[in-house]
Amino acid sequence: MPSWSTPAPPAEQRRRYTPPVDPLDRATLALERALGPSVVDTDPTRCEPFARDESEAEGVTPRCVVHARTSDDVSVILRHCEENRVPVFPRAAGTGRSGGATAVVPGVVLDLRALSQVKELDRENLLAVVEPGVVTGTFHALVEAEGLFYPPDPQSAETCTLGGNAAENAGGPRAFKYGVTREYVLGLEAVTMGGERLRAGRRTAKGVTGYDVTGLLVGSEGTLAVFTELTLRLVPQPPLVCTLQALFATVDDAGRAVTALVGRRLVPRCLELLDTLCCQLLREAEPSLLPPGDCCMLLLELDGEHPEALERDASRLADACLHAGARSVHLARDEAERARLWAVRKRMSRALRARAASKLSEDVVGPRTRVPELLSRARAISERHRVVMPAYGHAGDGNLHVNFLWDDPADKPRVERAIEALFRATLDLGGTLSGEHGIGVLKAPFLPWEQSPALIAMQQRLKSVFDPSGCLNPGKIFPRPGHLGC
Ligand SMILES: Cc1cc2nc3c(=O)[nH]c(=O)nc-3n(C[C@H](O)[C@H](O)[C@H](O)COP(=O)(O)OP(=O)(O)OC[C@H]3O[C@@H](n4cnc5c(N)ncnc54)[C@H](O)[C@@H]3O)c2cc1C
Repeated sequence: MPSWSTPAPPAEQRRRYTPPVDPLDRATLALERALGPSVVDTDPTRCEPFARDESEAEGVTPRCVVHARTSDDVSVILRHCEENRVPVFPRAAGTGRSGGATAVVPGVVLDLRALSQVKELDRENLLAVVEPGVVTGTFHALVEAEGLFYPPDPQSAETCTLGGNAAENAGGPRAFKYGVTREYVLGLEAVTMGGERLRAGRRTAKGVTGYDVTGLLVGSEGTLAVFTELTLRLVPQPPLVCTLQALFATVDDAGRAVTALVGRRLVPRCLELLDTLCCQLLREAEPSLLPPGDCCMLLLELDGEHPEALERDASRLADACLHAGARSVHLARDEAERARLWAVRKRMSRALRARAASKLSEDVVGPRTRVPELLSRARAISERHRVVMPAYGHAGDGNLHVNFLWDDPADKPRVERAIEALFRATLDLGGTLSGEHGIGVLKAPFLPWEQSPALIAMQQRLKSVFDPSGCLNPGKIFPRPGHLGC
């Protein structure tokens, strides 16, 4: 009987490789081959923490985390992901408050922390060239040791990165006098999906050649391109700093003081507010930080070169606070006391986090003159929806971190209604939804509340110029069909 069995294939054919059909598997394999397996992590346990950032956004565990080491790695990663149409989620320290770095669908997380070199410090031209993974606080210390100053100071500076700051256009307390990150990014190198490198901007003090692509990429929340280098503007470090704490009986008094100070043309470098509930919760957590009794606090800081001018401005600030109803104004006499006053502000976020199982921090901005009204609307919303809502933040910029605390997951719908009410109130007052945390995933459904359909469509067309396949950080900024207002 003839045998119809197929002859065994020759050895080299037996070993022939069958490519995986799943695009994500294909991309992962290509990346392992191009960069080496140690850079490409597919272990589910190690990938799991990359599903979250410092917000309540619920991402999915990425199938793969790639730890880029160089800008060439970034280029290779974005090329292979584009070829396989695989979503990429750029990520740095993961301190974001809006879910910007979270994976919303299975894909590749691009970890940029290892790009952490300060490449150049040009003392004469007052600039620095850095990789995006440099930790912000490390950079502050480095330039300050040279008598230079980099003003953007997110309160997460000990962990967040300059790249994450640029992507979110981060601010911080000093923004009141010095402005936000965009004002300090002179130029950058960025890689687009497909792996193409772009250089935009300048190293000079001025420059208006072509469109301001640098300005567009800063604040684009990792949706247009991935930064691999930033050229940052520095300023001389102000030699003198003076910090004051003003305590008020009510938040209305403190809010009025903010408006009054600016009305008197006083521009401290920081003007931070903690409402009564914040002070109470902080005192319960760390009794030594605040005096006993209900109060609400303004933290003010001035800087400058001339001791007499600083002293005069400090006394004008104290005067304006007392005039607005401050119970006491305290001037820090030395560095230790200054650190103690700042500890009140810096420990706020952690103290609130420890108070409840769930915490969400919004960062709405109202016109400065309407801060008292915004605070009072927030209080009314808290009462109406029965949600604990302590508020603190950069009151000089009208930027309030209104927090929502809750323990029982069943309360979440009530919290969501309170957040919506806060957004409505902010927009009614002529404000904006986010001052520094970005839109990310959490506020994407609300974009149409603030921006017209035409403006949103224009921004989506812009995104498709940089990222035609839509694979770079999808699900961020723009509302999806089915979201509110769509
Ligand atoms: C306690 C606390 C206090 C905070 N205080 C402030 C504050 O005062 N002011 C303020 O502005 N924010 C504050 N934040 C929010 C947060 O720290 C900032 O948004 C920060 O800029 C995020 O940096 P990151 O390195 O953690 O970035 P991630 O959270 O990792 O990423 C943030 C966004 O940047 C994108 N991204 C990261 N790296 C790159 C890159 N190289 N290229 C392109 N896109 C990239 C990501 O895709 C994501 O969209 C605070 C957060 C915490 C937890």
